[in-house]
Amino acid sequence: MTSTATDVTTSTDRELITARHLINGEWLGEADTERMNPARPGELAALSPSGTAADVDAAITAAAAAQPGWAALPAPSRGAILITAGNLLIERQTAIAEDLVREEGKTLAEAKGEVKRASDVLRFFGSLGWAATGEVLPSGLPDTTITTRREPLGVVGLITPWNFPIAIPAWKSAPALISGNAVVIKPAELTPLSATHLARALQDAGLPAGVFNVVHGKGRVVGDALARDPRIAGLSFTGSTNVGLGLQEILNARRARVQLEMGGKNGVLVLDDADARKAAKVVAGGAFGLTGQACTATSRVYVTPGIRTAFLDALTEEAAQYTAGDGMDAPMGAVVSGQQFAQNTAAVRSAVERGATLLTGSGILDETHDGDADRPLYFPAAVLTDLPFDDAAVTEEIFGPVVAVLEVADYEAGLAAINDSRYGLTAGICTDSLKLATDFSARAQAGVVKVNRPTAGLDLNVPFGGVKDSSTNTFREQGKSALDFFTWGKTVYTGV
Ligand code: NAD
Repeated sequence: MTSTATDVTTSTDRELITARHLINGEWLGEADTERMNPARPGELAALSPSGTAADVDAAITAAAAAQPGWAALPAPSRGAILITAGNLLIERQTAIAEDLVREEGKTLAEAKGEVKRASDVLRFFGSLGWAATGEVLPSGLPDTTITTRREPLGVVGLITPWNFPIAIPAWKSAPALISGNAVVIKPAELTPLSATHLARALQDAGLPAGVFNVVHGKGRVVGDALARDPRIAGLSFTGSTNVGLGLQEILNARRARVQLEMGGKNGVLVLDDADARKAAKVVAGGAFGLTGQACTATSRVYVTPGIRTAFLDALTEEAAQYTAGDGMDAPMGAVVSGQQFAQNTAAVRSAVERGATLLTGSGILDETHDGDADRPLYFPAAVLTDLPFDDAAVTEEIFGPVVAVLEVADYEAGLAAINDSRYGLTAGICTDSLKLATDFSARAQAGVVKVNRPTAGLDLNVPFGGVKDSSTNTFREQGKSALDFFTWGKTVYTGV
């Protein structure tokens, strides 16, 4: 997949950027949906089929047929396939990353890092094929041993967003597969190629037909059909809170297992004792990295009075490093879609109309660009200040490179402001005080706390998930805890 989209004139070139459904080991579907490169107007980035409920039905049928054989394979043999797939992703890293940049907009460095992450995730869970999953426990009965087992759910559904288009499919699929489940995944419409690369690596690594199936298409068609099918024993979703909560109702109604990781409005508290320059780097990395299109992105900052001016000066300088452009060579990539661009623009303009000061990114106020299809979707790093605590830019997820900086009187007021949100994904603090950092770690209402580190950026071997409207807050993703969602526990008494 090394063709540049500018030369997609021949059928071979088009084939290189065409995603198809993967159902029972076969690549199917008329690729009738065009995805344009958000950095290059008019340039085709990907083609994909628009799946139907019948495609979902066929994929689930294939998965149900393949699952018992897959679960019966020794776990180390399942793991070996995941490890091989992980190795293939690394061999193909640059070509996959280039496709990812063209369909999603992020920078090539970010995309390469994401492909590496997907590879590492596959290799991590592959190696768990050798790990013990149960316990041996004493019984109160004579000559009896108790063991615990984890059994696969069966066929699981995965629904994923566009912002980590290969890492999220990988971090859901790998624990599902190593546990002996078969998978039907519906990737985001905007990024069909990235998930296709994952599917191809798994297939090339020798995954049996039907164990991993992909159906592309609209959420309300393909995603909805997946959620409603009684053969789907568990659904793991990452995406917006509104869509997630709707899916929860469907899954709860048929008492199937559901895992939702949703939106965020992640805050950082910067205290007087922090180093203003270091704090600005932490905030800028979290706010503008990945074009702010991360669920863990920093979007609100609370500063105590003594550091406010120095911090804002340093943050303004940092923001200047994140020049938006084509992800192939710019420090900050394009916004994913015209709709997202318009959402970012509206949030900033509305805050300014309500009295906020826009310290960086004044071009946003220029009314000639609202996310039109004929302009590259370059959105500058925006720092807002002097805005009310109840402004939508402070309370609602924007999902762009926009950060609001507000002053709080002291640590307690800052902690209260951080916790005054419907979301609870990540929260950060910049301070040299071990005492306050420890107190913050205990009292911040967020699934992940970062002390002197950007709110975005996660390790793959540790639990990840949120609280409040950010998550179902039942099962965690990533690390060994990711296995819990995809398995159920059984206790076995064995007498002799
Ligand atoms: P989205 O909710 O619009 O879409 C997510 C997926 O759900 C897509 O595959 C989409 O096609 C599908 N979908 C949409 N409507 C559906 C329906 N009615 N039934 C079934 N499926 C449906 O989200 P998005 O715009 O792709 O991604 C951005 C959102 O994802 C942000 O809110 C972000 O915070 C969130 N996100 C969260 C995490 C996390 O781990 N918490 C990680 C990444 C992104």
